Amino acid sequence: PLRLSHPVTVPQYSALSRLLSTLAVLEQKDGKLQNSSLAGITAGTKLGGSITAFVAGSGARSVADEAAKVKGIEKIIYVESDAYDKGLPENFAPLLVENIKKGGFTHIVAGVSAFGKNLMPRVAALLDSQQISDITSIESEDTFVRPIYAGNAILTVQSSDSIKIITVRGTAFPAPEVEGGSATVEEGVDPKAECPTEWISEDLAKSDRPDLGSASKVVSGGRGLKSKEEFDRLMPPLADALGAAIGASRAAVDSGFADNSLQVGQTGKNVAPQLYLCAGISGAIQHLAGMKDSKVIAAINKDPEAPIFQVADVGLVSDLFNSVPELTEKLKAQ
Ligand code: FAD
Repeated sequence: PLRLSHPVTVPQYSALSRLLSTLAVLEQKDGKLQNSSLAGITAGTKLGGSITAFVAGSGARSVADEAAKVKGIEKIIYVESDAYDKGLPENFAPLLVENIKKGGFTHIVAGVSAFGKNLMPRVAALLDSQQISDITSIESEDTFVRPIYAGNAILTVQSSDSIKIITVRGTAFPAPEVEGGSATVEEGVDPKAECPTEWISEDLAKSDRPDLGSASKVVSGGRGLKSKEEFDRLMPPLADALGAAIGASRAAVDSGFADNSLQVGQTGKNVAPQLYLCAGISGAIQHLAGMKDSKVIAAINKDPEAPIFQVADVGLVSDLFNSVPELTEKLKAQ
C-alpha cells in the first residue's frame, strides 16, 4: 500500500470541503417581513445546498415564525433587539458576520434594496471578500451574471472567495411561495456591537397604491405630460382604473411632475411588472435599464420614431392628452 511519509491534514474549513450552504438575509420593517427580500431564498434554491434565513430587530421572532412557512428554508436564525430595527450597517454588519462565522455559510445573499446595498459591502469588507452585486442569474456556485453599464453589457463573474457575498436583483429572482414550508427557528448570536450612527428620523412618501417595486402593473409618465398638474390629472385615474402603481421618467421627476421615489430607471427603481404602460416617455437607455424586463410593455407616444417603440410589445402613436383619458374611461367601464 502507498504510504505518505508526511501525513497530510486537510483543513476542516477549506472551500472545497465545505458543503454549499446559503444564508439569506431577510428584511423586516416594524416587525413585518419585507417580501422583496425573499428573492435571496429563490437565489439560494438556484445555488442548491441548504438555505438558512436571518432576521434581526424588534419583532424578529414573529417575523421568523412567519418566514418559517416560506418554501425552501431549512432554518431561520433570529436576533431580537431594537438595536437592529433600522438596519444600520454599522452594527448590523458585525451582527451578521458573527452569525455567518458561527454557521459556516458559503454564500450570503441579500436583495438589492437600500438595506441590502447599505449592509453587504461592510459584511464583505469584514470577511475580506469581493462583493458580487446585483446578480440576475446564477451559472454555478461560483459564477454569476450581472448587468453593467445600465444593462448595456452583461458580465459573467467567477469568484474564488471562500465566502461569497451577493446581492440579487429582485426582478430576476421572483419570491418563493410563502406557504407550505416548515423551517426550524433558532436564536442567533448578538455581539452587541457599538453603533456610532444614530437613527434620527425618516420621511416616507405614503401611498394607498401598490408599491412601485413589486406591483404587477405600473403606469409611468414622462416629460410628455408637460406639467405636474397634467401628471396629477391624468396618471392617478389611469393607475386606479388598472390597479397599478405609478412610475415616472427622470425628466418628469426632475421637472417636479412626480416624486423622486417614483423614478424608474438606472438611477431610480428597477421594475419588472406584468404590464408596464408608459405615456410621454421617449425610451432613453437609462429609462429602459429600469423597466425592459417587464412582461408586457405598452407605450403611448405621439412620435412614431420614439425609441420606446423598439422595446414595446404594444404601441399607440397618439397625443396622450386624448388617448390617456379615453383609455381610462374605457378601463373604468369594463
Ligand atoms: P423625453 O426624452 O423628453 O421624452 C418625452 C417624450 O414624450 C417624447 O418621446 C415625445 O415624443 C413624447 N411626447 C411629448 N408630448 C406628447 C404628447 N402630447 N403625447 C404623446 N407623447 C408626447 N431617465 C430615467 O427615466 N430614469 C433614470 O433612472 C435615468 N437615469 C439617468 C442616469 C444618467 C447618468 C443620465 C445621464 C441620464 C439618466 N436618465 C434617466 C435620463 C434619460 O437620459 C432621459 O433624459 C429621460 O429618461 C427622458 O425622460 P422622458 O422620456 O420623460 O423625456
